[in-house]
Amino acid sequence: MAGQTIYLDHHATTPLDPRVLEAMLPFYGARFGNPHSSSHRVGRAAAEAVDAARAEVAALVGAHAGEIIFTSGATEANNLAILGSIAACQGDAAFVTTSVEHASVRQTAAALAETGRRVTILPVGPDGRLDPVQVESVLTPAVGLVSVILANNEIGVIQPLEESGRLCRRAGVRLHADAAQAAGKIPVDVERLGVDLLSLSAHKIYGPMGIGALYVRGGVALRPLFHGGAQEGGLRPGTLPTALCVGFGAACRLAREERAAEAARLADLRDRLFARLANALPDLRLNGSALHRLPGNLNISLPGVEAEDWLAAVPELALSTGAACASGSQAPSHVLRAIGLTEAEIQGSIRIGIGRFTTVEEIDRAAALLLRRLAALRRDDG
Ligand code: PMP
Repeated sequence: MAGQTIYLDHHATTPLDPRVLEAMLPFYGARFGNPHSSSHRVGRAAAEAVDAARAEVAALVGAHAGEIIFTSGATEANNLAILGSIAACQGDAAFVTTSVEHASVRQTAAALAETGRRVTILPVGPDGRLDPVQVESVLTPAVGLVSVILANNEIGVIQPLEESGRLCRRAGVRLHADAAQAAGKIPVDVERLGVDLLSLSAHKIYGPMGIGALYVRGGVALRPLFHGGAQEGGLRPGTLPTALCVGFGAACRLAREERAAEAARLADLRDRLFARLANALPDLRLNGSALHRLPGNLNISLPGVEAEDWLAAVPELALSTGAACASGSQAPSHVLRAIGLTEAEIQGSIRIGIGRFTTVEEIDRAAALLLRRLAALRRDDG
């Protein structure tokens, strides 16, 4: 809660868990050392803290600590995975991704296409899911990398990645997953998914902004984006921000320990909110699969009501029309378009993200406010 606002935009970012902040604070004070200074105790103490954090990040996704490369966030991790993979391939390797990716994959794909690379964008079904048959149909030796968003940041839809993982492995093609929204919300295990690369972001799991990671399976070669130092095995040079690493590690540990119980609670809150709204508004539409969905996500639309009007009508609620990275651009959501919504339906859709500190009272108050103000909006229009 920020002041009087009921915060329901947890896909944009999550509040820092107070336990995470507590773990970080000493590293903004007495424990200020550079983790790459190995010649004295101050530096070595910082390095130990970074090592422990790396192990926590790895444990959240079933990886080895040595396979975790810290980055500034999932945007950088996605760029490194895609550009770094394609650059490391022989010849003019092609790139394959889906129509429902985050801007950091979508625009990286566009940048590759501009340089003349072959880029294939696979469609998804009306439920937002990718049919692995689509992946199979494009897997040729010419493909250097397939990249799939594990859980969507707008509609919360979870992709059946295991099957694509098996297909890619059989074809000898690398698979990358953008797990920024999935990790800490659903079980994520790099072995079970069969991925070679996986992107993470701390601020989606109650950790600090400005840090994320790329899981790089042992033996997978990448070309770095930046040059300048030997940090992170030369893949991501630059001084690591110890406090942010520690915060990310603490957030991953909490996510690992509390995920199952938290997911059940969030799914209950989400279903309660949706039921309240849908009972009173029979024409309310849920965008994307109801079943294969992040526990805290709703993406809904109401015929005849513009999303901007919804948002303006309930200033007590922090809601959004879609991705924070796209807001301000006024571009209609490519994700909602990809699942077949009309332009009018897209303009009428809002995203709700329920999180760790959301209470049942807040959900009931949000439902009551939405129903009251939507009824007024419809009366004014009618
Ligand atoms: N991928 C997805 C699915 C996301 O939701 C986000 C954040 N909106 C990102 C990547 C980018 O993450 P970051 O903010 O850490 O750069």
